[in-house]
Amino acid sequence: MTQRTTRAQRLAMPLARSVVRDLAIEHGGCIRPVQLRRTDLQTGQAEPVLVPCGHTLAAVCPSCAERAKTLRAAQCREGWHLDREPIVQADDPDDEQRMWVELRSDVQRDRDQAEAAGQETATDDATIEDLDEQITRSGIRGNVLPARPVRRQRSTRRRQDTPDLPRRKVAARTVGKTYTAPDGKTFRPSMFVTLTCPSYGRVSSDGTPADPARYDYQRAARDALHFAALFDRFVQNLRRFLGHDVQYFAAVEPQRRLAPHIHIAMRGTLARTELCQVLAATYHQVWWPPTDQVKHDDASLPIWHEASGHYLDPATGELLPTWDQALDAIGPDDEPLHVARFGQRFDAQGVIAGSRDANRCIGYLTKYLTKHLADCHQAQTPAQQEHAERLADALRYEPCSPTCSNWLRYGVQPKNPRPGLRSGHCKGKAHRREHLGYAGRRVLVSRKWSGKTLADHRADRRQWLLDALGIQQADPARYSWEPVSPGDPDHMPNGQRLLHIVADRKRWQAALTLARARASGQPPGDLSATPPRSGMTSLGDETSEGKPRSSYSWC
Ligand SMILES: [Zn+2]
Ligand SMILES: [Zn+2]
Repeated sequence: MTQRTTRAQRLAMPLARSVVRDLAIEHGGCIRPVQLRRTDLQTGQAEPVLVPCGHTLAAVCPSCAERAKTLRAAQCREGWHLDREPIVQADDPDDEQRMWVELRSDVQRDRDQAEAAGQETATDDATIEDLDEQITRSGIRGNVLPARPVRRQRSTRRRQDTPDLPRRKVAARTVGKTYTAPDGKTFRPSMFVTLTCPSYGRVSSDGTPADPARYDYQRAARDALHFAALFDRFVQNLRRFLGHDVQYFAAVEPQRRLAPHIHIAMRGTLARTELCQVLAATYHQVWWPPTDQVKHDDASLPIWHEASGHYLDPATGELLPTWDQALDAIGPDDEPLHVARFGQRFDAQGVIAGSRDANRCIGYLTKYLTKHLADCHQAQTPAQQEHAERLADALRYEPCSPTCSNWLRYGVQPKNPRPGLRSGHCKGKAHRREHLGYAGRRVLVSRKWSGKTLADHRADRRQWLLDALGIQQADPARYSWEPVSPGDPDHMPNGQRLLHIVADRKRWQAALTLARARASGQPPGDLSATPPRSGMTSLGDETSEGKPRSSYSWC
């Protein structure tokens, strides 16, 4: 007979649902698996397959985020100390790709002929748009006819307060120099560099300003908004200065004071003094209309004018200047809205391939990738909370891009205006609290880093696993895949999916432990473990380790 329990005792019991979820996490399984239906085209048999959600944030799916982080670490490690040029070679186009591009050229000819004859081109333009989409879908990179950006002379004006940098022609080489030690051993060092933003006012060890009233929040906000562009400029300068195609794997993280900084694994080396020189010459000018005067606050919001597709001044009824007009109004004697530079403080160290230092640096580079920027340093004290609040306030009305609705506040139509825009309510990522003003990618990898895409690295790991387990890769052409929707008879609720995830992962792990024991020549022990060939979980989910992470590494 079961014993009677009090309500309090019952409440203290673990909830079945969360036990399953915790178990899935413990075994490294995805907790938001997507259900697909896989049909064997030879036998006609359909079966459900659970595919991991692939999210990169631990708050959403801890296991998938951890896997994504491990994959990034592998990518970083593989490219850092390459001693041969990575082969980045595009495949030849296949018949379908050729067909789309040929069709595209015919329509372009028709369109240009029509335009020359003064005829309507709208139909051809629409077809061209469709064809461009098809071309992309067929797996071709880029556009056949890239949109030509309107070059504005002003934006290239050099600053007089910045030292000139010697410029060399950039050679295609991406691999660093080799050095020979006195004992004849050769080595090829690489670098780990950390760049920061300048000071906005003195801060205490908890990252909060000593004097909030004198902390330059506006500058901090603008530097964060333009941080990615500044880094771009830095790489350009570095390449011209060193004369070769420098490669990098970089991660953007917040400092305790909530300003972004960037950790960079760089292939090859340069002297500290040279790095200083490049940094001193690196800046990014933002040639945007002035924002020092609020022309339309919440009490006098500009009005959308449907007929012209533009905004009107509520007092005069006149159209606000368009984005291009506002840019044209910037005179030769005007200053840019903002000049972003890196701070004086930076860190640079030489790193040798395979060393403990190299591993430590890769740890730094990937440390925070599973967290939102704002979650890396969560506010613990009221002072930290208020600091974050003031930064968010500074970002609220700061225009984040030419299309930002905040331009209305300063009397300018945002680029590509549309109805419903309101300053202070821009949907841009940069304004959101969790982004701290930085809307760019967290990981920035140059094109010739490892010569592989993230998908290639993922495929490598999958192959490693298949080899370890001695499984043959199934022929992908044999199956067709389709999503399973909630109304379908074979749809599984999430709880059921998680139960399958836990069961499958346990079997995969047992099989792997066995395979590893065999490989290292240990006595096999329990030989009953076999990979779940009929398991539901897709192999992509299984290529990462679950909890036995401490015992060995996958990359
Ligand atoms: Zn997941
Ligand atoms: Zn915005």
